[in-house]
Amino acid sequence: MMDDSIFVAGHRGLVGSAVVRQLQRLGHGHIITALRPQLDLTEPSDVEAFFETHKPAQVVLAAAKVGGILANAERPAEFIRDNLAIQNNVIDACHRHGVRKLVFLGSSCIYPKFAPQPIPESALLTGALEPTNEAYAIAKIAGIKMCAAYNRQHGTNFLSLMPTNLYGPGDNYDPRGSHVLPALIRRAHEARMTGQSELVVWGSGTPRRELMHADDLASACVFALQRLNARDIGECINVGTGIDLTIREIAETVMHAVGYSGRIVFDTSKPDGTPRKVLDVSALRALGWTARIALPAGIPSAYEDFLARHAAAPTATHNT
Ligand code: GDP
Repeated sequence: MMDDSIFVAGHRGLVGSAVVRQLQRLGHGHIITALRPQLDLTEPSDVEAFFETHKPAQVVLAAAKVGGILANAERPAEFIRDNLAIQNNVIDACHRHGVRKLVFLGSSCIYPKFAPQPIPESALLTGALEPTNEAYAIAKIAGIKMCAAYNRQHGTNFLSLMPTNLYGPGDNYDPRGSHVLPALIRRAHEARMTGQSELVVWGSGTPRRELMHADDLASACVFALQRLNARDIGECINVGTGIDLTIREIAETVMHAVGYSGRIVFDTSKPDGTPRKVLDVSALRALGWTARIALPAGIPSAYEDFLARHAAAPTATHNT
């Protein structure tokens, strides 16, 4: 595997950049990446030309249109369109160009809103989805089913990994588009800098979320590239820490890491989303992989990245 060429699609994002860092740390010599102007993954002809030129042996599909609860609720058309297009193009190209292994990345929001907790892989398609991110989830479910169908019909080795909520360097800090952890890092930092006495947290504070550092997911991707095969797992396999906290506890952990000690107030005009989301990670654990980075240990690298990229310009909101 270490000699194979690996195309990391989405290498500038939270996940893709962590996968590239991990492969570089392991001394991998042939990592292929492409920037948006060279390769628009939603364009079939771009993807075809890219695979024809580079002929990657393995592919990690970490490119996706992602966003927090508000972005998903406000722009569902973009989330379903772009993600279906990217997957469709890349999965099919992997088959036609004989890619030896594809790691496709989904998300824990593919599972029903009221799935059993912790959520086993078998919960897929057993109930209605959380409405706030249904469009994104449907696209990701289509990706899982597409990989499974190609494996069945064409004998490919396409693996679908379902990570829990992620954070880390390279995250999106757009106040309206980001997920909870980067949003709270930004607000706690700005509250500290401007001497505010209160930190606003959306919703009721009672939903529970599992958060995993992107470096842990990158380590799982490399584990999958080296050690997993589609025939050894079901249609998808969960990647998480198996540990969840309430939004209030997450906010308190962020405040501690950022050095802010104001009072938490809840903005209940904002949605709570699904009440609990923690993955059953026993399948991947049984195969030999576990997450290593606990939340308090993982936040500092995310905060440092925020300070380096965003703190000097608090009004900048765009991040790709
Ligand atoms: P989800 O896991 O798909 O629901 O996505 P998010 O990470 O965006 O939200 C997780 C939970 O954090 C929800 O219950 C939100 O209401 C809550 N939350 C609290 N404060 C914030 C915030 O500032 N931004 C976001 N995105 N969520 C927040």
